[in-house]
Amino acid sequence: MLKLFKPRLLYCAGKFLEGYAAAVVDGQIKETGPYEALKEKYPNAAVIDWPDDVLIPGTVNAHNHSFQSLLRGIAVDRPFLEWRDQSLYKFSPYLKAKDVYTGAVFAFGEMMKYGVTTVCDYFYVHNEGVESDEAIIQAAKDVGIRLVLARTMYDWDGAPAGYVETIADAVNNVRALAKKYQADPMTTIVPAPHSLHAASVEMVQAGHRLAQELDTCFHIHVAEEPFEVDQVKKEHGIRPVELLKKIGVMDDQRMVAIHCVWLNDEEKKLMGENKAQLVYCPSSNMFLADGVTDIPALMDNGVRIGLGSDGACSNNRISVFEEMRMCAMLQKVHQLNGLAVNYQQVFDMGTKDGADLLQLPVGRIEAGCQADFVGLNLKDISLQPIFQSKEQILPNIVYAMQPNAIAHVVVDGKVTVDNGKILTIPEDRIVSNVQTLMNRLEDQLS
Ligand SMILES: [Zn+2]
Repeated sequence: MLKLFKPRLLYCAGKFLEGYAAAVVDGQIKETGPYEALKEKYPNAAVIDWPDDVLIPGTVNAHNHSFQSLLRGIAVDRPFLEWRDQSLYKFSPYLKAKDVYTGAVFAFGEMMKYGVTTVCDYFYVHNEGVESDEAIIQAAKDVGIRLVLARTMYDWDGAPAGYVETIADAVNNVRALAKKYQADPMTTIVPAPHSLHAASVEMVQAGHRLAQELDTCFHIHVAEEPFEVDQVKKEHGIRPVELLKKIGVMDDQRMVAIHCVWLNDEEKKLMGENKAQLVYCPSSNMFLADGVTDIPALMDNGVRIGLGSDGACSNNRISVFEEMRMCAMLQKVHQLNGLAVNYQQVFDMGTKDGADLLQLPVGRIEAGCQADFVGLNLKDISLQPIFQSKEQILPNIVYAMQPNAIAHVVVDGKVTVDNGKILTIPEDRIVSNVQTLMNRLEDQLS
């Protein structure tokens, strides 16, 4: 059945068009054009009429750890290692696959309500092996969000046992999942050797080789904290990005690096020369006092940049609109330059650039892309004022909008949030399931 999405304004190719609609079949945008012409062409189409909305591409959360939503508000405002030990490492061993599912539904439901239509979940709590991964995939399907599972490969044994696998097991598990879901348009599996401090050089190389075999990117945390740089220098005599180059994982443009806070100028150049991509998580970097990634220099070097919320226990919001605002604000104040990063650049990072980075046909409203949209209520007070020229709409979305302006969310052509309410799983059920789980964990750990 063909659907015509008919908002007041449609954001296409950088313009807000009045009287336009998007024709959608089987979850894909067939064409966009003036509504009257499309209605004539497709007289039997179901019309989804949102007369107060501006329809924009759904946002892409290119880095999250869904289970960490369960740890929000626990052991906050501590030094990094203390926070890690009291929050992540303390609770992770108790999370069974069904708990991972509860956490993922919680995270995906919340972020979808706030406009995320694609999430990359960087997942590493394998207490029940691939069953834990399957719980994430099922949660995404039940919530109705598009998923990239950055299936983590981790062999540093200082972490909880459920994170750790041999190289052979990690490779086999990622490969098996990738094969199983290769024809599923809502699920993509990519290898994700955790980082240079939690994956051996051989594990990182195995992740890269697997990315070649599967023809995907691979994701890796890079230089989030100074300790990683110190450790790599001590063990290898060079810096993290130099090591990644040296071990041969940057040569074929498959690397998606998360964070990249502590790079020197040479490493920033290496990132650009090797067409590495970056997922930037400004709120998380601020929350954990990591430091400030040099976004203008990385952009100048041609690095493609997407935005991530990171886990909800190091943010603690999970909204890409929030990260757009934080990215622009943090870069401006850090560079003491109001032009450091502008609203159009951060909007693109949170939509089409993040989509390109994840190699998915989303993030744009144009023919051939998947129908992932967000409808914002143009009458919401936080989006005012608006000239007839529409000059303020995009700046107001980035800098001023509050979440209650997010009226509708569409993923793969299906309305998943209507008038701010999640349709797929009732929000009160999500909350009560989380509460039951947290009561159990509190009892187990006391
Ligand atoms: Zn992360």
